[in-house]
Amino acid sequence: MTEQKATNITWHEHIVSTAELEKLHGHKGMTIWFTGLSASGKSTVANAVAAALHGMKVSTFVLDGDNIRQGLNKNLGFSAADREENIRRIGEVAKLFTQAAVVNLTAFISPYRADRDKARALQPETFIEVYCDPGIAVCEQRDPKGLYKKARAGELKGFTGVDDPYEAPTSPEFVLDTGGLTVGECAHAVIDLLKKRGVIG
Ligand code: ADP
Repeated sequence: MTEQKATNITWHEHIVSTAELEKLHGHKGMTIWFTGLSASGKSTVANAVAAALHGMKVSTFVLDGDNIRQGLNKNLGFSAADREENIRRIGEVAKLFTQAAVVNLTAFISPYRADRDKARALQPETFIEVYCDPGIAVCEQRDPKGLYKKARAGELKGFTGVDDPYEAPTSPEFVLDTGGLTVGECAHAVIDLLKKRGVIG
């Protein structure tokens, strides 16, 4: 648990509430938390879902691992403690986007179950966990960034799935077979789930 350092701080209620923002946007805010190994398709599917929703006039934003690590989390590496802090911050940012009535999609390996559960606990009613699981063989064969190759050659240490752990979700809202389905089919499946949940019309 991260300690609260600052004292003498007061919570301010927003004049423009989440309910007002939801009315303006015509839909609720929601976090769709993609998890899975590197190259499992988190980023590709998250962006495909965002593009389709955007076409339906839904406000979306994708929080992507590599992008966030160049800004907000540029001071964090890949040690267990840094991975935990990475996900803690993303969980808080995702919650802010939900409060802004935006459908936010996070694409982080987020390898530790406990860290994902903490992100969920911040907004249990508005959190959908999607496990992208094509199997490691498919990830390794796709390897769009050449990272598995480097990890197998010993040039990259602490790579998830090779020499660092990945804890698969035990009860995600959705498991996506990103090996067997096309990107379009995966995106469609997620959008269907959002409709069933009443997030979008
Ligand atoms: P991650 O964000 O999990 O690291 P990426 O989305 O960056 O993964 O990479 C996944 C790769 O797999 C991309 O090159 C993508 O084009 C390819 N791919 C092929 N089929 C699918 C699918 N059904 N879903 C997601 N990605 C797919």
